Amino acid sequence: MAAERFADRYSRQVRFAPIGAAGQARLRAARVAVVGVGALGTVVAEQLARAGVGLLRLIDRDFVEPSNLNRQSLYDEADARACLPKAVAAARRLALINAEVALEPLVAEVGPRTVERLLAGVDLVLDGGDSFRLRHLVNEACCRARIPWVYGACVGAYGCSLPIIPGQGPCLACLQDVLPDAGDTPTCDTAGIIAPAAHLVAAWQVAEAIKLLTGAAPRRELWACDLWAGRFQRLALADARDPACRACGERADFPHLSAPADPTVVLCGREAVQVTRPQPCDLAALAVRVQAALANDHLVRWHDGVAQLTAFSDGRVVVQGVATPEAARALVDRWLG
Ligand SMILES: [Zn+2]
Repeated sequence: MAAERFADRYSRQVRFAPIGAAGQARLRAARVAVVGVGALGTVVAEQLARAGVGLLRLIDRDFVEPSNLNRQSLYDEADARACLPKAVAAARRLALINAEVALEPLVAEVGPRTVERLLAGVDLVLDGGDSFRLRHLVNEACCRARIPWVYGACVGAYGCSLPIIPGQGPCLACLQDVLPDAGDTPTCDTAGIIAPAAHLVAAWQVAEAIKLLTGAAPRRELWACDLWAGRFQRLALADARDPACRACGERADFPHLSAPADPTVVLCGREAVQVTRPQPCDLAALAVRVQAALANDHLVRWHDGVAQLTAFSDGRVVVQGVATPEAARALVDRWLG
C-alpha cells in the first residue's frame, strides 16, 4: 500500500524562510547515515525523519536494553523485552512517524574493514557514536570520500558538537589536542547521562545537518555545554586545520582505516566483551543447539554458568559477565568452535 501523503506535512518548515520550498526539495533528495542509534542517534534520526529527509541509513551493532530507555527516544519497554537490535527498532518506529522516508537499518559493527562500505553513497553522516575509536574511523572514511559529517558527543550533563567538512576546515584528527583523548574520557556507562543533555546536542547536530543539506553555511565553531552547571562554550575553529593531518592533509595515510580489525572489543562499563568471528552465524540452527533463552530474527541469547552470550548473524558474539577478552574468546570458541 502506498504511503499516505499529507499535503501540509512540512508546511511549517517550508514557511521558515531559510529552508523554503527549495530547501525542502533538497531534504527530500538527501541520503543521510546515522552512526549509532543511541542517545544522540535516536533523537537525530527522529528529527531528520520528521523533517522529510529522503533516506536514512541507521547503523548500530547493539540491541535495546532497559538502561537505554531514560534517553533513547525511539525505544519502548517492548523493544527492550524483545532485545530488538536498535537499528531495527528505530526503523520500525520511524516508519510510523514518516512513511515517506526510505529507511535502511543495518545491524553492523563499524570497523576499519566495514566503515567505508557502510557509509557509501550518503550525502551526510551524523555521529551518534559512543567512542573516539569509532569517531576516528568515521572521520577518516568521510575525509577520504569527502562526505561532511556532524560530530556529537554527550556524557553526564555535558555535550559538544561540531560540523566537519573535509577540505574546508579542521577534521577530528586536526583537533586531537582540543578534544579529549580516547581512553581517558568517561562514557555513558561509567559516568551516566541525562536525556536533556543528549537532546540538546542532537538538536545542535540536526540544525547543522539541515543547514548543510539545504545549502546554508554551517557554523565554524565547536559548541559545548554543561547543562547542569549552565556553562556554555563556543570555540572558533575555522583556522584550526592541520596541513599535515593524517586524515585530511595532503599526505593523509588514514591510520585508523588501515589498522587491523580487532576481533575482541571490551564494551566499557558493561562488563561485556564483543568477540567477532570471521564468518556469519546461522541463528536458527544456533538457537536450537544452545537451547536459547531468547531468539529472534536478529540475535540468539543463551547462558553459560555466570556468563550470558548473545550472537548476531554477522558473526559477533557479546559475552556478558566475564573479566577478560581471553575468557570471552575461550567461551565463544567452546560454544561456536
Ligand atoms: Zn584533519
